[in-house]
Amino acid sequence: MALFSRKEKYIRINPNRSLGHAQSQTKPEVPDQLFDKCPACKQIIYQKDLGLDKTCPSCSYNFRISAKERLQLIGDEGTFEEYFTGLETKDPLHFPGYKEKLAKTRQKTGLDEAVVTGLVQIKGQTCALGIMDANFIMASMGTIVGEKITRLFELATKEGLPVVLFTASGGARMQEGIMSLMQMAKISAAVKRHSNSGLFYLTILTDPTTGGVTASFAMEGDVILAEPQTLIGFAGRRVIESTVRETLPDDFQKAEFLQEHGFIDAIVKRQDLRETIGKLLQLHGGTK
Ligand SMILES: [Zn+2]
Repeated sequence: MALFSRKEKYIRINPNRSLGHAQSQTKPEVPDQLFDKCPACKQIIYQKDLGLDKTCPSCSYNFRISAKERLQLIGDEGTFEEYFTGLETKDPLHFPGYKEKLAKTRQKTGLDEAVVTGLVQIKGQTCALGIMDANFIMASMGTIVGEKITRLFELATKEGLPVVLFTASGGARMQEGIMSLMQMAKISAAVKRHSNSGLFYLTILTDPTTGGVTASFAMEGDVILAEPQTLIGFAGRRVIESTVRETLPDDFQKAEFLQEHGFIDAIVKRQDLRETIGKLLQLHGGTK
């Protein structure tokens, strides 16, 4: 038995000897977010290889990007002027934990709400720009999102400017109940007034654009673009399948399927969006 029993003296490491890693019991430190795994092709990608447009180098999958990153990709440098900041929800239902959740999300994202609105120049042309950010409570549409987008359209109407809107949304914000759903009608009315003034409205649907946003202003653009493989829909797949009692095709609710069925005018690669938006703004009158 003594043959197998370990004698402590053979395995003890002299604490005074410099052995580098052997002294440390902690795991080697790997900086956060150095690598990303592509959800589409499952490749591990070095963050730097993703580039500013965050596109997978092996399969062209578009990673979700923040409103700030989107602005960098689309706007002319240093031309963005933000409008309608500092608005706060009245929390109409006094929903438990909602205000705390908002405060935490604000701190985490550096955003005040799920949409960033303002005036910008794209390829030298001024337009009203809105960018929804899925990092903020899944860019759900509450009273402030509705108010900011409505004001953006009103400003554009007053100034005679086109509106460019990047949509993304998980749907209506349940914490604000029916007040969220009212935003669909409110924004749509502002879109109509903008349209009646003969002004151009361009939507770019980004992953995911669902729920009440799809059912209203996302689909009201004069021209509707989408990024490749974007999830676009109203209700979720399972809800529809159990209602119509049919199995839906795999690509159902993908941008490509919607384009085939006439809901979307064009699918544009992220790298080409700035160029395409610039051309469309110019074709529809420009603002210079
Ligand atoms: Zn990939």
